[in-house]
Amino acid sequence: MSDCIFCKIANREIPSDLVYEDDVIAAFHDLEPQAPVHVLIVPKKHIESLDDVDFEDMEAMGWLMKKVKDIAKDLGLENGYRLVCNTGEDGMQTVKHLHFHLLGRRKMTWPPG
Ligand code: 5GP
Ligand code: ZN
Repeated sequence: MSDCIFCKIANREIPSDLVYEDDVIAAFHDLEPQAPVHVLIVPKKHIESLDDVDFEDMEAMGWLMKKVKDIAKDLGLENGYRLVCNTGEDGMQTVKHLHFHLLGRRKMTWPPG
């Protein structure tokens, strides 16, 4: 999608601090980190939110989930991490391209705000 910031990052049209990339997904540091490690993992395909995942996206979504632990390991998150997917208005999703926040290297609190 031409005016989507995460599409542009995933397509390398604008620079970002990439930590992982393949044909299907990209992972890059969040602009405003909420933890010592705060990375966003996105499918390269423009999918607006978790609400818009379709059957044809199953392979990409499965691959993304499989890669989470590899990305976490590469970032040194041996002690655990949190994966967050804000969805829609109540979920406080601000960027309308599906993304998973990978947060780590500090103790998280529960429940989230
Ligand atoms: P959301 O609130 O939609 O779950 O999360 C969007 C996240 O994207 C926020 O944590 C915000 O800091 C991050 N973000 C917004 N614009 C950019 C950007 O241009 N580059 C990067 N790396 N992160 C961004
Ligand atoms: Zn997009």
